[in-house]
Amino acid sequence: MAWRTRFAPAPTGYLHLGHIVNAIHVWGIARAFGGEVLLRIEDHDRTRCRREYEDALLDDLDWLGFVPDIGRTDSFRAAPHGQPHPQRQSENEARYAAVLAALSARDLTYVCTCTRRDVARHVPHAAGEEPRYPGTCRDARHTAGESLARRVRMVDGVIPFDDRRLGPMRQSPAAQCGDLLVRDRHGQWTYQFAVVVDDMAHDIDVVIRGEDLLASTGRQLRLAALLGRERPLQWWHHPLLVHADGRKLSKANHDTSIRERRAAGAYAEALLGEAAFLAGLLPAARDLSIDELPALFR
Ligand code: GLU
Repeated sequence: MAWRTRFAPAPTGYLHLGHIVNAIHVWGIARAFGGEVLLRIEDHDRTRCRREYEDALLDDLDWLGFVPDIGRTDSFRAAPHGQPHPQRQSENEARYAAVLAALSARDLTYVCTCTRRDVARHVPHAAGEEPRYPGTCRDARHTAGESLARRVRMVDGVIPFDDRRLGPMRQSPAAQCGDLLVRDRHGQWTYQFAVVVDDMAHDIDVVIRGEDLLASTGRQLRLAALLGRERPLQWWHHPLLVHADGRKLSKANHDTSIRERRAAGAYAEALLGEAAFLAGLLPAARDLSIDELPALFR
C-alpha cells in the first residue's frame, strides 16, 4: 500500500513561490518513492481565510500541474453537490470537538481565560520568539462558561524524532511553548490542534513541510501521542525559499503571487524551474516540467 503525505495550504492569500517550493517537495518526494498526495485546505482560522483565496489556490495548483491523489483540485470546480472536494478544516468541527471532549474526559485539558496579550506581556521573550505559556490557568479550575479557550496539559520531557533531511532532533515542548492552546477564546481551533487531529484522521505517514514549522514538530508529536496515535509519522523539513541575495521570501514582503505572474504571461515550467532554483534544488534556473520533479529527489 502506498504511503501518504499531504499538501496543506492555508487560504489566507494567493499561491506564491514558497508554496510551489513546498509542492515540489511534496509531489516530487511522493512520486519518487511511491507515496500518494492528499490535498487539505487548512482554513481553521475563520478570520483570515477566504473562499476566494481557496478557489485561486486550487486553480493555480491545477495550472501548475500539481494533481493530488485525494481531494482533487479540478473536480472541485465542476463538482455537483456531494461530489469529492478538497478536505477542508472548516468542515471538521465535529471531529475536533469529539477529540477535545475525549481529552477533557481524561482531565488533560483546562479552561484558559488569558488573552494572547496577557501571555505576551507577562512572559519575557525575545522579539520574534514565541512566549511560553506560564500555566496561569492550569490549576484555576475555571468553569466551561468562563471562556471557550482550552489548553492541553503538556508534561515535561524531551521528544526525540528523526528528520529525513536534518537527522536526529530533540525538542522539549513543555519548555518551549508550555500548555498548548487547542481552541481560542473565540471558539477557533488552533493550527497545532487541527493539524495533528487531521494528520491522524487522514492516515498521513510523512509530513513534508518548510523548516519554519520545525519548532512545532515536538509538540505535534506529543499531542499525537496523547490522542493515541500509533501509526508512525515521519518528517521531512525542507529549506525555505530565499531571494538570490539571501533574503527570505514571504507573503509579507509582497513577493509576487502566481496569479500576477500568470496574468503577466509566465508559464508553468518557468515558475517551477525558478522555485526549484531558489530552493537550491537546481544549480541554475531553467524550465522544469512537472514530470521531472521525482528526479530531483532520487
Ligand atoms: N497549513 C500550514 C501552512 O500553510 C502547513 C501545515 C503543515 O504542513 O503542518 O503553513
